[in-house]
Amino acid sequence: MFALDDELAQWETALPDVQGAERSKLLMALAWHLRQRDPARAQQLATEIVPLLALLPSDAALVQRARLHLITAEPAWLRGDLDTAFHYAEQALLLCDQAADSLPAAAAACRADACWVMAWASNDRGLSADGDDWLRQAAAAARVAADPMRIDIIDAASGICDAFSDGPAAQQRWRDRFSTDLHGVAPIAAGWISDFFGTCAFQRSEYGRAIGHLMLSFENALASGQIRRAIIVATNIGNGFTSLNAHESALEWMQRGLDLARPAGWPLSIGMCLMQTAETLRQLGQRDAAQSLLREALNTLAPLSGSRAYAVALEYQGDLALDLGNYAAALESFTRLAARGDALCQNDFQSSARRGQAHALSYLARADDALAAAQAALALARDHGDASSQIATLNVLADIHARHPLPGPEPMEAPNAVLHYLQLALEIAATIEGYTVPGALLDAAAREYAAIGDYQRAYTIALRANTARDQTHSKEATNRAIAMQVQYQTERAQTEGEHHRQLAAAEAQRAEVLQQISATLEHLSAIGQEITAHLDAAAVFRALDRHVHGLLDATHFSIFLLQPDGASLVCEFGIEADKPLPRVRIAADDPNANTARCLRERREILVELDDEDVTPNLIPGTLPTQSLLFAPLRVGERVLGVMTVQSLLARAYGERERLIFRTLCAYGAIALDNASAYRQVAATQEQLLDKNLELEQAYQALEEVSLTDQLTGLRNRRFFLQNVDADVAMSLRGYDAGLHRELNECDLHAAKDLVFFMVDLDHFKEVNDRYGHAAGDSILVQMQERLREVFRESDYVIRWGGEEFLVLARATHRDEAPGVAERMRRAVAERDFTLPDGVRLSKTCSIGFACFPFLPSQPRLLSWSQVVELADQGLYIAKRSGRNAWAALYSTDATRADGVFPRLMQQLDQAVTDGEVRLVSNLTGPLVLVGERRRIGLSSDLELN
Ligand code: GH3
Ligand code: MG
Ligand code: MG
Repeated sequence: MFALDDELAQWETALPDVQGAERSKLLMALAWHLRQRDPARAQQLATEIVPLLALLPSDAALVQRARLHLITAEPAWLRGDLDTAFHYAEQALLLCDQAADSLPAAAAACRADACWVMAWASNDRGLSADGDDWLRQAAAAARVAADPMRIDIIDAASGICDAFSDGPAAQQRWRDRFSTDLHGVAPIAAGWISDFFGTCAFQRSEYGRAIGHLMLSFENALASGQIRRAIIVATNIGNGFTSLNAHESALEWMQRGLDLARPAGWPLSIGMCLMQTAETLRQLGQRDAAQSLLREALNTLAPLSGSRAYAVALEYQGDLALDLGNYAAALESFTRLAARGDALCQNDFQSSARRGQAHALSYLARADDALAAAQAALALARDHGDASSQIATLNVLADIHARHPLPGPEPMEAPNAVLHYLQLALEIAATIEGYTVPGALLDAAAREYAAIGDYQRAYTIALRANTARDQTHSKEATNRAIAMQVQYQTERAQTEGEHHRQLAAAEAQRAEVLQQISATLEHLSAIGQEITAHLDAAAVFRALDRHVHGLLDATHFSIFLLQPDGASLVCEFGIEADKPLPRVRIAADDPNANTARCLRERREILVELDDEDVTPNLIPGTLPTQSLLFAPLRVGERVLGVMTVQSLLARAYGERERLIFRTLCAYGAIALDNASAYRQVAATQEQLLDKNLELEQAYQALEEVSLTDQLTGLRNRRFFLQNVDADVAMSLRGYDAGLHRELNECDLHAAKDLVFFMVDLDHFKEVNDRYGHAAGDSILVQMQERLREVFRESDYVIRWGGEEFLVLARATHRDEAPGVAERMRRAVAERDFTLPDGVRLSKTCSIGFACFPFLPSQPRLLSWSQVVELADQGLYIAKRSGRNAWAALYSTDATRADGVFPRLMQQLDQAVTDGEVRLVSNLTGPLVLVGERRRIGLSSDLELN
């Protein structure tokens, strides 16, 4: 709510080093707490915050935006523009409501602050009941926020407001809420609580005590940037001294208040200081000076005629009219005061209004009315325990009786009614600590005692009157009062001239600008969201270009970006009169270029030329623009480049335009920074993708190598093992489908078998032995070619090991397999191999094969590896039976499923005899079924793989 100067100093120190969301928080803290200390700077910081809101989570941004509205609302309230204040405080409340669910504490704290502004603006408008209601809402919100300092401050403020409408009741009501022992209470809250105690003491006419409390409050208000409060407290202290007739001290405090109010330029604060000073002048008998000051005060306060301050000014005006003998005017002032007092429900005014009316009526020869009014005033003053008011009223009653023959009061001990009232007044005066009885009152008493012949007493009292006058009308006080009045007069004379009109015009314009700015900020915030949504620089440039032209007169718009080496600026985007500008480069240390200066000095540069001026440093080929605005593209402390708008019009860029441009620069800088960060991430990602692709390719090459036999280029065992299961599964699916249908001719011949051929070169060892290993190798390579001639592209031709090849012929019908085997046999046997040295060599091979499924009626009876073993069996039958041959084992109708594999492996001849297996071969002679068979170790090899 409020912060001490020390805290602000810390934030200022921290600001240059923070970025992003943290920066927005710090800027907000600074802007918020500068709202009274330096409203212009607060607004300026606020414009810097707007683009940063995009970096915050949306609910946090809502609360921040609400607070930004309050940074506009509060200065509006202080400068007396209450409509604007209400409007922005209401906007803030709406945003707080939206954020209340997700951020209850922060939204409630902000809501409390919005209600707080509403309360004071309501009071200044004279709607004190509304003011009280807003304070109640503020207190409730502070409790939701669970913020003890806000709770104390708001409660104390409620207490103060209550004390004005009904002092004793307020004291009753709030007595237990606050302790006079303020140890352990936060200083800012302690300031407000002291203010409450001071106000209550004031209402009880305990001025000395009141001043003590208020002085503490003043110090705290000043140290926590509550300038308006400090001014009010200073004038209240001054008022306290006036009530004690200590005019010199009173003037000193009025001066303090005025010293704060003048630079702030707040009408209510200035008006209050002026009228309090005028009142002191009046009491010192300086009526003319008082008159002119009071007139000025009332003029200043006229737009706030509903406020308490205006009512006080009416009272002073009435009293001054009485002093000047202008009774009709006095009556009018007091009548208006009575109406204001009723409207405000602040009963101190009701009593003084009637007292003033009584006084005027008495001089207007309306004795009965005067008496009635005076008695009413006395009753009210008594009710509220207001001693000063009682003294003043008793003085009036005495005067009425002195002037008019009226019946005296009952009962009455004094010799006459005049003395009765004067004695009463003196008795009450004696109860006020530090009070100096006014000389006029003592004079009246002395006169009256003399009139009844009591000269002794008359003389004593006359002596007291002189002493009192000496005290209250000291030469110093009078001099001071006159000096102050002269100062006002001189200033007023100055401000009445042309100078004043200019100032007023400038001020009005400034106010208008601020208002427009508030509206523009909303619009800019939307633009900012759009600009910062782009992640590529060209799109950011285009968006900026569009909005610059939409919001400003810009014949020329260009964006220069600082190059990575920091040595030069390059125009990355430039448009002049709808034509693109060349990509000029400007050295960062160029002494003449405005862009380079703007970059180096990190500040906005505005060049304004008159019609006859020649544009300096005109970039060749560009137009001679008259208004040139340059602003750095900053993100935190980094400057990314410079943006410039230029217009052919003179003085095209006023305060509002510069603010817009500054804001666009802030958005642009953030967006370009994002874009560059994104570009880097994207480049890194692309590199990663490239690397991945390379790795992928390397891996694939490796995989290829690992699946290929290096000598022949054929697939190897690893490849086969990776793929065979899928082919087996496919074949089985074909069989499963067939089994569920009626078998027909077509199905029987469907190509869904897998045939495993095992091919082994005959007497290959001899080649190595006779011609060398390289010769053997060359034969293996040529074998590869012949295998490829015979088998299809889709068949797997595998170098199984050494000079052995396994071929898996896929989607083949088992009846076609013998033909294939024969073609293979012949492909080897019927053509010579050529050795590297040109020697031609005739070689043969042996082939065994078996079909999967082995038993078509029970496709899963044997596994593919068992079928490969059967092919190997076939190969060895071919070898044993003479080589250059092929042999295969086929199932028959008589094949018994039960234990078929071990039988085939171990008792093949028996199985053949039993007709359980059919041997198919190209050989016509007897086949050698049994004998030594080299274990191909398939199963163990499989496990290894
Ligand atoms: P069989 O007709 O019974 O098959 O007799 P063989 O000599 O072909 O069979 P054996 O198993 O006795 O010998 C195979 C030879 O193959 C042994 C080995 O030297 C040779 N060999 C295996 N791998 C390679 C190779 O990569 N290059 C060469 N040049 N020779 C190989
Ligand atoms: Mg061999
Ligand atoms: Mg072999």
